[in-house]
Amino acid sequence: MTEINVETLQRMFAAIANAMAKEKDRLCELDGVIGDADHGIAMELGFSAASKAVAALEAGSNEPSAVFNTAAKAFLNAVGASSGPLYATAFMRAGAAVKGKGVLSDDDLVEAFIAMAKGIQDRGKAELGEKTMIDAWIPAAQACHAARAAGAGWSECLGAALQAATKGAEDTKAMVATKGRSSRLGERSIGHMDPGAASAVVLIGAMAEYFEG
Ligand code: ADP
Ligand code: MG
Repeated sequence: MTEINVETLQRMFAAIANAMAKEKDRLCELDGVIGDADHGIAMELGFSAASKAVAALEAGSNEPSAVFNTAAKAFLNAVGASSGPLYATAFMRAGAAVKGKGVLSDDDLVEAFIAMAKGIQDRGKAELGEKTMIDAWIPAAQACHAARAAGAGWSECLGAALQAATKGAEDTKAMVATKGRSSRLGERSIGHMDPGAASAVVLIGAMAEYFEG
């Protein structure tokens, strides 16, 4: 049984920021093909700001929900691109899902993860098949939930989520973009992976790796 506290989450955000910095150029390249080439910059900026802000929290006098709420505010302030409010909403929802808890159990973490995906969808109003990060996040949340229902622990749930997100991102190549900036390309967006779906895989992958260790 997992018990996650403020310090674990602070280190998780540092691990995600690290992964985004490594993948920044690839994410910008993907966005360069069907968008405006800034997605890697946005995600790197957002997670480095979020990671710094949560690291400044006093672990002893805050609860896990404060980590997510702090990350949300920092992400929103740092990112002007459309991914800014989407991830800010995701983290706000994760914070709300675990509000009042001192340590997080496997069930809490799975709930927070599902709340993130739902937050992105509520905020951006994208449906599956519209070639956005939703095509990675929704299958990931479903796989995470299904794994937990089958008795898997948090780390294993994240492994299932990563597998589903990876497939979801791959599937965006065949889709026509109908939401966000890349929708202007219409059919010409076919054949290219959505950058937001790709960065969702980076994020979930960093979480999976972090909790495996
Ligand atoms: P911008 O398009 O403003 O430059 P980014 O480059 O940071 O923002 O992010 C682009 C990504 O945002 C897209 O690849 C897509 O996955 C995601 N996205 C855009 N609009 C939406 C939406 N309404 N719902 C979900 N995801 C979206
Ligand atoms: Mg962009």
